[in-house]
Amino acid sequence: MTTEYDVVVVGGGPCGSTISTLVAMQGHRVLLLEKERFPRYQIGESLLPSTVHGICRLLGVSDELARAGFMTKRGGTFRWGRNPEPWTFSFSISSKFAGDASTAYQVERMRFDQILLDNARRKGVEVREECAVADVVVDGDRVCGVRFTGADGVRHEVRARYVVDASGNTSRIHAHVGGRRRYSEFFRNLALFGYFTGGKRLPAPNQGNILAVAFDAGWFWYIPLTPDLTSVGAVLLPEELDRARGDRERALLDLIGECPLIAEYLAGAERVTTGPYGEIRVRKDYSYIQEKFWRPGLVLVGDAACFIDPVFSSGVHLATYGALLAARSINTALRGGVAETTCFEEFEARYRQEYARFHDFLVAFYDMHADQDSYFWKAKKVTNNVASELESFVELVGGGASHEGALVDAGSYLDRREAAFRELTDIVGRPVTVVGEDRDLLQASLARSVARQGARIQIQAAIGENADEHTPVRPGGLVPSADGMHWSSPDPGTLKGSQQS
Ligand SMILES: Cc1cc2nc3c(=O)[nH]c(=O)nc-3n(C[C@H](O)[C@H](O)[C@H](O)COP(=O)(O)OP(=O)(O)OC[C@H]3O[C@@H](n4cnc5c(N)ncnc54)[C@H](O)[C@@H]3O)c2cc1C
Repeated sequence: MTTEYDVVVVGGGPCGSTISTLVAMQGHRVLLLEKERFPRYQIGESLLPSTVHGICRLLGVSDELARAGFMTKRGGTFRWGRNPEPWTFSFSISSKFAGDASTAYQVERMRFDQILLDNARRKGVEVREECAVADVVVDGDRVCGVRFTGADGVRHEVRARYVVDASGNTSRIHAHVGGRRRYSEFFRNLALFGYFTGGKRLPAPNQGNILAVAFDAGWFWYIPLTPDLTSVGAVLLPEELDRARGDRERALLDLIGECPLIAEYLAGAERVTTGPYGEIRVRKDYSYIQEKFWRPGLVLVGDAACFIDPVFSSGVHLATYGALLAARSINTALRGGVAETTCFEEFEARYRQEYARFHDFLVAFYDMHADQDSYFWKAKKVTNNVASELESFVELVGGGASHEGALVDAGSYLDRREAAFRELTDIVGRPVTVVGEDRDLLQASLARSVARQGARIQIQAAIGENADEHTPVRPGGLVPSADGMHWSSPDPGTLKGSQQS
């Protein structure tokens, strides 16, 4: 095994697979270390369109996901707030999620995470499972590698220019970034969850929707994973946490009995008692945010950095969007030309913005005395959106509120990337026309021409020509490059225009 890499990624969940793939696709050497052997169980099964049609498309796994036959999710159905009747929203309400992009998936994470990890391998990432990272290597003020125990039980050390902590909520290295993990004062809930077969489905065409039902002790999620299998979890409010003590099965069944709609949906169902879905699990202390997301040589993304709450399924979205933002910072810093601090400040600012949008909205959503119209109004307020209140709400809960082209229009990035690639291969494949010129000289001039052309394309990307987003999200900030994989300086003309308006 090589012991020097450009990037070492710790953790092979959606966050780790995403960032390692997006960095390896730029030709950098990436090692991913995963503690478990996949497939392994994980919660977080309801995805958003921004992940399915944005990130997954950039990763190149859309067709494979479509073939996997995951349950199609058109939106959500909620029995929530003052309204005693369930209400439903569809992603298709928003113009951001038009046509094919108006759906997402409910996924068995064992299968979904395996698809992303295998794809990372195919895209050039060196993936090593059963490798548990215990510590980081520090040189001066810089993190420059990790120490881990391999499947053979032997301790190893690898060095890299960047270490990415994508090892989720149980991360052992997140504290090295400096600052604390701040636990939410507001979200101090606990989740108790298991799996059932034979549960009822919502009427077509919403049979794949997530169903969320509030009741006195908190709320239930009811996620159809296959036509027969359902993920069912109770999220208990802080004053109800004692309900999860003792016999978990008894506790879950009692809670189901207190929530008439969920009891009705599970009336003919049986709890799964064997295999990876046979356990009734508890998760608590999951709502937190790190005070810092990076320091020289180390970056935290996904649950290693922050998570809010299961309602509206923002976890995988935040993890994979954060991975895209951090991948741009790493790719730009490795290429050079933009200061490392500038690159990572951009990642952190945008990631915190997206976190804050969801956080502020979710706090308001937990007000059970309000009705859906006031939730929609709040969504418009936190997103500062010009669209209608309902559309603002759908954009937010679909993961499209950041106005980030890669999440809602990944196709245009792919088209540009393909055009740039065609331009390069065209030059390489151009026939030799200079008669009598020495072969070596010809090859050298050809190589120079390719390099020049490559540089032109990179510069074009770097100055943001053709970029989707011309306006930085903060003064002095950067914008995504034309290929979507780097940061670049905003076009001064655009800046002037945006300052005037
Ligand atoms: C109750 C509950 C319900 C949720 N429901 C949803 C939902 O419906 N939709 C949604 O989008 N999100 C949901 N989430 C959030 C979701 O689970 C996470 O946000 C998501 O899994 C984060 O992805 P990640 O890649 O950052 O971390 P993870 O998925 O946790 O992956 C981290 C990986 O790192 C590995 N690892 C850990 N330590 C080490 C180590 N020392 N060395 C090497 N590898 C290591 C782990 O084995 C794991 O594979 C829910 C969360 C909770 C608590």
